[in-house]
Amino acid sequence: MNLVLMGPPGAGKGTQGEILSKRLDINTISTGVMLRTAIKEQSEIGKIAEKYINDGKLVPDDVIVSIVKERLQKPDCAKGFILDGFPRTTAQAEALTESGVKIDKVLSLEVADEAIIERLSSRRECSKCGAPYNIISNKPETEGICDKCKGELIQRADDVPETIKNRLNVYHEQTEPIKAYYEKLGLLVTAKGEDKLEDTTSNVAKALGLEV
Ligand code: AMP
Repeated sequence: MNLVLMGPPGAGKGTQGEILSKRLDINTISTGVMLRTAIKEQSEIGKIAEKYINDGKLVPDDVIVSIVKERLQKPDCAKGFILDGFPRTTAQAEALTESGVKIDKVLSLEVADEAIIERLSSRRECSKCGAPYNIISNKPETEGICDKCKGELIQRADDVPETIKNRLNVYHEQTEPIKAYYEKLGLLVTAKGEDKLEDTTSNVAKALGLEV
């Protein structure tokens, strides 16, 4: 299955992406993780992306589209993939369609803004592998340590109140219109993402027509 996961920042795309990856045995491709890795490595793309990310703005379409196109050519994507955080603008969605990559479903995780602000302040991620955690709702086995790779858990630089507000505005203005684009193509499904993790996981499975 070739799947796009969308939703506001902190909706649970990373967490649901991981769960679906295991279940469907396909990789999640997170543009946010790719960009943060590029920043850590201080590559050319990392240097361009850093300022945008820290201001809560979107990285320019041409930069992100070329990264994703290249990534989708890799052999592991042939059996399917989950895109987390791409597309985020109508121009990116159109570029994806025009690239000839077939998308089977676009799942939008629905969470209200008030819940997002609370959630992002307790979010953590692995500094090594990018795995998502939440110190209230999705704790690691050992505090501060990634279950998978034993990397240190950190708070993202863009999970601070002022940047969160910008990211939510950007979501509503630039990303939400994509829902109408995919609805017209008959690909959009939605799932409520505000409840407990297990409930969201079963909402997602139902929306995708998987066994709950
Ligand atoms: P995420 O981890 O998905 O929340 O992404 C973190 C940040 O990376 C976003 O706030 C953007 O600045 C940047 N980013 C990630 N994906 C994209 C994209 N598809 N287009 C533009 N910027 C992106």
